[in-house]
Amino acid sequence: MVDVLLEQGVEVIIRSSLLVVVAFVATFALHRASASVRYWVWVLTFGGLLALPVMIAAGPLLTIITSSHDVISAPTVTPVEMNGVQFSAFDAPAAMPDLSPETNGISAPATQNPVVQPTPAVRTRDATSVPEARRETASSRLDLDSLAALIWIVGAAAILGYGAVQWSKLARAIRVASNECDAWKPLFTEVVRMLRLRRPVRLIFADAITAPMAWGTLRPAVLLPLDAKSWDADRQRIVLTHELIHIKRFDTLINALALLICALYWFNPLAWLALHRLTSECEQSCDDLVLSGGTRGSDYAAHLVAVAYTALYQRRLLPGVTPLSQNTHAIQA
Ligand SMILES: [Zn+2]
Repeated sequence: MVDVLLEQGVEVIIRSSLLVVVAFVATFALHRASASVRYWVWVLTFGGLLALPVMIAAGPLLTIITSSHDVISAPTVTPVEMNGVQFSAFDAPAAMPDLSPETNGISAPATQNPVVQPTPAVRTRDATSVPEARRETASSRLDLDSLAALIWIVGAAAILGYGAVQWSKLARAIRVASNECDAWKPLFTEVVRMLRLRRPVRLIFADAITAPMAWGTLRPAVLLPLDAKSWDADRQRIVLTHELIHIKRFDTLINALALLICALYWFNPLAWLALHRLTSECEQSCDDLVLSGGTRGSDYAAHLVAVAYTALYQRRLLPGVTPLSQNTHAIQA
């Protein structure tokens, strides 16, 4: 069983790496397409990474089910009679009479009553007959498999644990945060209507927030630093539009799932590169949508530089969070 797990693990590594490489090639070929197209290529890639272990694990199960069906529907074996003794192909070799010509003094024609030779597949399985060296090899393999499984579990648990701790710290900071800022409410309502966002969204100002970000999926919120209360109307509109687009597209959920999948594939650097490309294309596509609304690129870039100076930390290791873009270099004036 553990051998199967190790073999499936190697298969997952190989196929997941191939999947990410194909995604890199595809997005490179789509470099003239919109960032939104490349973003969804990465979203589908992470969907594939999530489905891959399930499909590989289901393979042996399907084989077992198919094999069971074959055994049930196997044809009846007709007993063979030799020298007055009746036996079938499933008789153990030890139970078969000695039918050799030397001891019986006969020579049966090849086309009449053929002697059924035992094959390895029908030999009696006897645990005591397993060679000692083979058992020692199996034991060593078991130890190796257990060690590999333990390392994988510890790595994934460490990453998920770290993400959970950071997430709970932010959640605690939000619980005690203020959500009262009358100056923002008319513009907030206007942008929500413009984006046709039907889910209720909260607007939260928190001391622990250093850069604007979208937060949560079931009860989404736009999180803003306290100094955002003094921003001018242009910056307010740009930031709100950007973060509410994230919420409308469920980017917060996609971000959380991608981080979860990376925790499962923590040993594969290609998965982390894929996460980097996913977040980068996510931000760039969001920027494109904001700019398509009529905002000048130079103004947009200037506002991003002013407010997004510490977003990198929060972007990387917080599940369900998409901070304001830092792709100012990619924004055309
Ligand atoms: Zn963003």
